[in-house]
This record gives sequence, C-alpha cells and structure tokens, in this order.
Amino acid sequence: MLHRLTTQVGIVGAGPAGLLLARLLQVNGIDAIVIENRSREHVIDRVRAGVLEHGTVTLLTALGVGAGVRRGGLRHDGVHISFRGHRHHIDLAGLTDGKGITVYGQNEVVRDLIDARVATGAPLYFEAAHVEVRGLESSPEIRFRHGDDEYEVRCDFIAGCDGFHGICRQAFPEGVLTIYERAYPFGWLGILAEAAPSSDELVYTYHDRGFALFSMRSPTITRLYFQVAPDESIEQWSDHAIWEEMLRRMTTSDGWQPSVGPILQKSVTPMRSFVAAPMRHGRLFLAGDAAHIVPPTGAKGLNLAASDVLVLGRALKGFYQAGRTDWLAEYSETCLRRVWKAQRFSWWMTSTLHRFPDETAFDHQRQLADLDYLTGSRAAMTSLAEQYVGLPFEVPLESAGLPV
Ligand SMILES: Cc1cc2nc3c(=O)[nH]c(=O)nc-3n(C[C@H](O)[C@H](O)[C@H](O)COP(=O)(O)OP(=O)(O)OC[C@H]3O[C@@H](n4cnc5c(N)ncnc54)[C@H](O)[C@@H]3O)c2cc1C
Repeated sequence: MLHRLTTQVGIVGAGPAGLLLARLLQVNGIDAIVIENRSREHVIDRVRAGVLEHGTVTLLTALGVGAGVRRGGLRHDGVHISFRGHRHHIDLAGLTDGKGITVYGQNEVVRDLIDARVATGAPLYFEAAHVEVRGLESSPEIRFRHGDDEYEVRCDFIAGCDGFHGICRQAFPEGVLTIYERAYPFGWLGILAEAAPSSDELVYTYHDRGFALFSMRSPTITRLYFQVAPDESIEQWSDHAIWEEMLRRMTTSDGWQPSVGPILQKSVTPMRSFVAAPMRHGRLFLAGDAAHIVPPTGAKGLNLAASDVLVLGRALKGFYQAGRTDWLAEYSETCLRRVWKAQRFSWWMTSTLHRFPDETAFDHQRQLADLDYLTGSRAAMTSLAEQYVGLPFEVPLESAGLPV
C-alpha cells in the first residue's frame, strides 16, 4: 500500500542531529517527520561520543530534555594532560568563568530525545528501507518502505541528518560540493570496561608508544582508548594485551593508573577530518556528520551536530514565523564558521598528542615542547579550555525560539 504524507520538514536520520532538530521544530510548532533506517534498539545502543560541551547541555535543557543529563551526567571542571610520566591539570572552569564539560553518553542523549518524541506521538519511523530524497530544487520528497508499505513524504524542506554514510550528501548534484579531507595514519582502539573510574576527570596521555585517553561513562564504567594503526584488527588484541598496553601508556610516575575490570566492548575506529561545503543545496540542508567529521580527540562531533541544528532550527523558525529567507540562505556559511574552528582544534589536539609514523626526532621534541608550553602557560591553557568547553554558538538560543 502507498501512503502519501505531507509535512513541513522531512528529517532523514534519528541520530543526535535529526532528533535534536525534530525537538527544536516541535518546540516552535513546526511539523516534521523523522525517518531512520535502523531499529530503535540499535540507535539507542550505539556507543559513540560522551563529552558534552557547556553549550550543548544548555541547549538540551532549553529544549526541555535536560532531566537525564542533569540526573546522570558527570560534570567535569578540569582535564589532565599527561606526558613524560606526569599529569598536568587544566582548570577548565577557572579559565572560562565557570564553564565545564559533562560526560553523558551519546546513547543516553539519543534515548532521552526518542522518549520525548515518542511521548508526544510525533511521527518517527524506524527501520525505514530504501530511503530516497528527490526534488531538491523545488518540491522535495522523501520515499521509503516501511514493512510492506511504501511511503511518499512531501515536504517544504529536507534535513539531511543521516551521518557520514547517509544518502543525503550523495544526493547533491555533481560538482556542487567541495570536499576537504585529511586521513590520519592511526586509529583508536577503544574499550568500555566494568571498572570504577580511577580519576574524576579525563586524562589525555602523550607517551613514547603513542596516544592514550582515559575517560568514563558512569561511576562504574571506564572508557579507554589508545592509538593503533588505522587498519589494526581488533581480533589481534586479547583483553590481557589491551590492559597491558593501556597501563604501560597511562601509568604515571606517582603510581596513578586506570582500574582494571572486565572489558564489555572493544573496537577500532579510524580517524579523519572531513568537511563537505556548502551544507545546503536547494531545499536540502545537511547537519552533523552528514556534512563534517572530526577526529574524536577534541570531543567535538556530537557538539557540532548540536550547533548546526540550532542554526537550522532558527532559519526554519524565521521562515515559518516571519517569512524570512535570509537565515536559510546564510545557513551553510554560519555553520561552517564554527565547524572550521572545531576542525582546527580537533586537528591540533590530534597532531599534538599522537605519534606519527613518519615523524622525525625534531618533530618529537617539538611536540614535547608544545605540551610543556601548554601546561606551563596560563594563556595557552586558557586557549585550550575555551575551545574544549565549547566556543559560543554562532546564533543565540532565543533567536531559535528557546528560553535562555
Ligand atoms: C564509532 C564512532 C565513535 C565515535 N566516538 C566519538 C567520540 O568519542 N567523541 C565524539 O565527539 N564524537 C564521536 N563520534 C562522532 C559522533 O558520534 C558523531 O559526531 C555524532 O553521532 C553525529 O551525529 P549525527 O546525528 O550527525 O550522525 P549519526 O549519529 O551518524 O546519525 C545519523 C543517523 O542517520 C541514520 N541513517 C543513515 N543512513 C540513513 C538512511 N539512508 N536513511 C535513514 N536514516 C539513515 C543512521 O542510522 C543514524 O541513526 C564517533 C562516531 C563514531 C561512528
């Protein structure tokens, strides 16, 4: 059976970008249909980012979905940088007028947003197959199959929130997009372990054997990573070998090290920087990973998705409530200003903290000097702190119809 539906905004993808946009539109009385190709369980169980910037937490609260992060989020006022066996503390809050970061799993953010949408009965289709977007220049349409039925959704605009491997960016006509890309000669081997975090704050380590990161997801779950070759096979790593390497890289001269526990999940993630510009073609707008990817060192991926959505939400509100088209026209340029600053920061964190296969002895000493300078200069620490807690959004929350 064919179902013909009509809405104002068709959203492809129920990751953080799609769900946040759906919520922002709902708050402003704008209709949307969200179409996701995976199951609800898969979307909620996917383990990904975990660090929320100060502004992202403010946005979740303003959207009325901040109860989970207030209850379960771990607020951090600082971060450690470790090298030559010593941990150096960076006082994020002291250097940024009280701002910090909050550790709260992306899967929890997604769960909160799905629960909130389902509770209102607003349309959200999981397990949509053969999703296609058409008519981008004049009369947008999304088609998909759901169970045995076909759906045709006519809308004014399409939001492509379908991540890096989605179909929306691919739907741009040839020659429209410029791609900026950098692949790194390493990946991260990451684990989730059932072990109480042995530090209240994240520890970024530069070690002779390569980068390592100590983080956490909850008071009982530790999340750890270390640098490996980009094509490293996870099967080569026994749990014992993973712990041995983690401890070798992270243990500091004062005896600090992560607590060891059963490994619940392990994987290898390649690292890349990627930007597709412009982020709009006709009536199709890309947001989040569909348009850009950052290496996870700066913890910016999910936060950038949130800031794109704020800009897009404002533009759509301006269009529907005041007939404005200028904010829609400026969407890509406005987002890309913040995207490029986050790209630069993520590249800098990555370049400073990893060992490179082709590096010279000079490069190694320069990296150590960079870290020495960073941890010894209030100006350098302030620069890191203001970027790590998150640069201001490009548009104020109230311009998108949200309370401050
Ligand atoms: C393995 C991994 C680990 C990561 N770790 C970190 C981290 O530690 N720190 C950090 O800051 N960032 C991390 N990131 C990045 C961060 O998770 C992303 O930036 C964030 O998920 C972006 O949200 P999004 O909504 O734009 O995209 P996504 O979360 O990718 O959501 C896109 C959604 O669209 C759906 N979709 C795809 N194709 C279609 C289609 N054809 N039709 C319908 N739906 C479709 C997908 O199933 C998905 O639900 C990680 C990413 C990955 C992949």
